[in-house]
Amino acid sequence: MKSAATMEKLVSLCKRRGFIFPGSEIYGGLANTWDYGPYGVELKNNVKRAWWKYFVQDREDMVGLDASILMNPRVWEASGHVTSFSDPLMDCKKCKERVRGDKLLEEKLGIEGVAGKSLKQISELIKTHKVPCPKCGACDFTEARSFNLMFKTYQGVIEEDAAMVYLRPETAQGIFVNFKNVQQTTRKRLPFGIGQIGKAFRNEITPGNFTFRTREFEQMEIEYFVREKEWKPRYESWKKDVEHFFEKILKISKERIRWRQHEKDELSHYSKETWDTEYKFPFGWGELSGLAYRTDFDLKQHEKFSGEKMEYLDPETNEKIIPHCIEPSFGLDRTVLVALLEAYDEDEAPTEKGGMESRVVLRFPPNIAPVKAAILPLMKKDPLGPAAREIFETLKKNFAVEYDESGSIGKRYRRHDELGTPFCFTVDFQTVDDKTVTVRDRDTMKQERIKIDEISALLLHYP
Ligand SMILES: [Zn+2]
Repeated sequence: MKSAATMEKLVSLCKRRGFIFPGSEIYGGLANTWDYGPYGVELKNNVKRAWWKYFVQDREDMVGLDASILMNPRVWEASGHVTSFSDPLMDCKKCKERVRGDKLLEEKLGIEGVAGKSLKQISELIKTHKVPCPKCGACDFTEARSFNLMFKTYQGVIEEDAAMVYLRPETAQGIFVNFKNVQQTTRKRLPFGIGQIGKAFRNEITPGNFTFRTREFEQMEIEYFVREKEWKPRYESWKKDVEHFFEKILKISKERIRWRQHEKDELSHYSKETWDTEYKFPFGWGELSGLAYRTDFDLKQHEKFSGEKMEYLDPETNEKIIPHCIEPSFGLDRTVLVALLEAYDEDEAPTEKGGMESRVVLRFPPNIAPVKAAILPLMKKDPLGPAAREIFETLKKNFAVEYDESGSIGKRYRRHDELGTPFCFTVDFQTVDDKTVTVRDRDTMKQERIKIDEISALLLHYP
């Protein structure tokens, strides 16, 4: 049976086993920053690779890109982020706590789709419903005002406005400004898309829930260019591809994923239709990915602001058109968080003394497990150590495997259960005689003997 993870249990496991640490911890931390540890980075890289393979490498209509985080500030004027990318901010007059008006309304009143309300409407709703300050309980806020979410910094040695640049709030614009470069060098014809994985930064007022909402995060984004008349069927087919990725590749349970359409007044300034996939987190439903129909808004804006033509010569009609765009966008850190939550389980395992003990196990699908297999000599001493090491040296050429000889075999099994290692291969005295090892399955805890020669095939069978 699957036992539900709580955030508290997961955060503690992530720290204990080296998946995710609090950022700058020895200095008392920096609010809302998290560092991926040795197993976290392997997990994250595996999720990235699975995404890249499925959405970019396996498709003839997709290519990849890796654009800069720092871009010409005019990009963000063209994209609308300078004027429209902001949160409604309010201060508590009593205790000076700074809050997001829309979030306060959502949390206290359960109003969905507050994002589209005007600053004035938000201020009024807070007053009418006497929403209290989360810190001191008073209901005495300043009027809501607009707070831009882009991080600013300065390029070069002089801190003056002319040298100001933004840390990109989305990876998408790097794709739009390279549309012509990519199209001309790859000679791709519509419909085709460009995928990119990279960091983005948003100065959120109220981040939280572990790695769910952080100010620095990683996105996996696609801009898929189509002719206007074909956007709807393409959009529907992207919905299926997104579902396939979550259900078939990351093996996320169907019951914990749902689609939610954005209300008209909740849509981003560039979008005509948006559906989010949401995941049922321990703290409630939360956005995992978005699928936006961005129309020809971005390319048109860049044509206007840069003066460069962003047209595509349609070989079918010989017409010059500006393509429309469908954007499947995924939060990588959220996807990793979901992979951890989905994998988390507790059950009972036999102890070496013949009793039972509770165990924590991460049931990762093998394709994203940070360690594919552990090679464990039953004892450190000769000839078991060298025999196990020989197996490890062979396997490590093709697989992410670990050699582990310290502690009792039971302790080592527990450790690898908590790391989500699908297989443990134990080397004992019989190994030296007949070239077999014991393979232990993480999920069933069943053990059987197989030949050393069969190990690679077993690991390949569970890619
Ligand atoms: Zn207050």
